[in-house]
Amino acid sequence: MDVLIQEAEIRQRVAQMARRIEADYRGREPHFVGVLKGAAIFHADLVRELTLPLTIDFLSVSSYGSGTASVGPLTLDKDLEDDIKGKDVVLVEDIVDTGRTASFLFRWLPKRKPASLRLCALLSKPSRREFPASPDYVGFDVPDRFVVGYGLDYNQMYRNLPYIAALRSPNEEPSIAHSEHTATSEP
Ligand code: 5GP
Repeated sequence: MDVLIQEAEIRQRVAQMARRIEADYRGREPHFVGVLKGAAIFHADLVRELTLPLTIDFLSVSSYGSGTASVGPLTLDKDLEDDIKGKDVVLVEDIVDTGRTASFLFRWLPKRKPASLRLCALLSKPSRREFPASPDYVGFDVPDRFVVGYGLDYNQMYRNLPYIAALRSPNEEPSIAHSEHTATSEP
């Protein structure tokens, strides 16, 4: 894999985003809704950077199966726990790719009558957009490559990487050497 965004750059950018959000929501108590699982790490870091009084919640939508390809229709796997009526909701996504997830949630969440609704995404792939979705806050635009790390997975792996990396296609030379240890029964 190729590292695209280093840990220190992410930390710096998340802090910048937090300062902008603080300026925009001064005097209010926004409600930060993270889209699981991909946004969990970004959401946790973002809310800890914010000095505003705030609340959090999570929802989960499935749009991708295993691997890197989009499959099937969108379904809501986990609903919100809190009522968002009258709240200033900030939807926190890991990445806006085709925009399908964001545009689905921006049709569905307004039915719960929030006072306002904005979209905050760590990453955006503008060249891939197929559905109307324009994040109000974006960390980084990334090229049309499959990225992992900092919450984003490939087959549920790599979410714990502290940086963002792009997976190379199988016919490219790997840049990370794999040790040829023999498997043991230990974890
Ligand atoms: P969209 O609905 O905008 O096409 O895609 C949104 C979701 O697809 C993201 O929340 C993320 O879970 C997944 N996704 C899109 N692009 C990537 C990518 O490059 N890497 C990973 N790991 N997930 C992606």
